[in-house]
Amino acid sequence: MDKDSDIHRQDWKTILSHSIQSPQEAAVFKEAHDPRLSEVVKRYPMRINPYFLSLCESRGEPLKRQVFPDAAELDDESGWTDPLAEDRDSPVSHLTHRYPDRVLFLVSNQCAVYCRYCTRKRKIGHWPHVKDEVIEAGVRYIAAHPEIKDVLLSGGDPLLLEDERLDWILSEIRSIRHVEIIRIGTRVPGVLPHRVTRELVRVLKRHHPLFMNVHFNHPDEITDEVRRACRRLADSGISLGSQTVLLRGINDDERILDVLFRQLLTMRIRPYYLLQADLTRGTGHFRTCIESGMRIMKRLRGRISGLAVPYYMIDLPGGGGKVPLLPSYIESLDPVQIVVKNFQDRLYTCPQPVPGPPEENSQNDVL
Ligand SMILES: *Cc1c(COP(=O)(O)O)cnc(C)c1O
Ligand code: SF4
Repeated sequence: MDKDSDIHRQDWKTILSHSIQSPQEAAVFKEAHDPRLSEVVKRYPMRINPYFLSLCESRGEPLKRQVFPDAAELDDESGWTDPLAEDRDSPVSHLTHRYPDRVLFLVSNQCAVYCRYCTRKRKIGHWPHVKDEVIEAGVRYIAAHPEIKDVLLSGGDPLLLEDERLDWILSEIRSIRHVEIIRIGTRVPGVLPHRVTRELVRVLKRHHPLFMNVHFNHPDEITDEVRRACRRLADSGISLGSQTVLLRGINDDERILDVLFRQLLTMRIRPYYLLQADLTRGTGHFRTCIESGMRIMKRLRGRISGLAVPYYMIDLPGGGGKVPLLPSYIESLDPVQIVVKNFQDRLYTCPQPVPGPPEENSQNDVL
């Protein structure tokens, strides 16, 4: 009996409990015996669950590098431990209120794997269980702020909470009249698809309108189990989007992202954000330059369906928030005409509808 089918017969908690936490346990990888890696995982814990480990073994570097420690994590002096100043912008513990109408609520301290490039590297694997009091204080804060319409649950990974606990949190938030939508940010469907059980989906369905942003970085993460998990989520009416982190040497190539985004669409997942890697200390070896992200975006636009093209976003250090980085197609713009470069870099001229000075009182005048 091969190892893979053994894994698929177990339930998600059993699989997770067999995760490896030290490089030496992955003796098949030649780097496993690098003595510096013990130092790395003391500072930044490691977790690779058996499902994803077997995928790293069979499919190789692009998956393995995302989760296997690297001595470069110790040498990187660039960046900050909390690059987005999430802790500073937290009116109550575990909740960041940066944009007026929405909050980020960190409800879980667990993930199904620990990604080496994680923005919350400072916390992952170190932070304590998120207590009931913390959840209750967050819910009270949201209830007291009628401007909050959109609650984004993240962590850690909210789908690593038990069904009952997730149900409780979702019910508490749903009971607040002014909250319109709830979003869940998760990597679980791609790295521990066994967690997406019928029972979980039954719980989630009770709390519509529910949106889920799943995290995928490379087409090799997509397996039959992953497709089944995503089908279950989509069938239950959850609106699915994806977030992808642009990672040097892993997916910083439009041919790879082209395949990934197309495959996500076939799974009814709409690519939402391609994220420039944050300036998190210990992750410098993953970072790409902005120009390379812009070039990739420009090439994608001509290659694939508009539905498959995400926004390329930078999350500004120091808490400035997320901003799209858009390739410019405008060559010139004046009251008479606009000159635009198309996806093949050919120039086209388009007359302005009403030549002359901007109309007064028009909300649409940008010039
Ligand atoms: C990313 C983020 C959000 C959600 O942003 P959207 O652009 O609406 O997806 C909300 N709050 C914080 C603090 C965030 O980092
Ligand atoms: S799943 Fe998300 S929160 Fe968890 S380690 Fe990976 S990137 Fe970080």
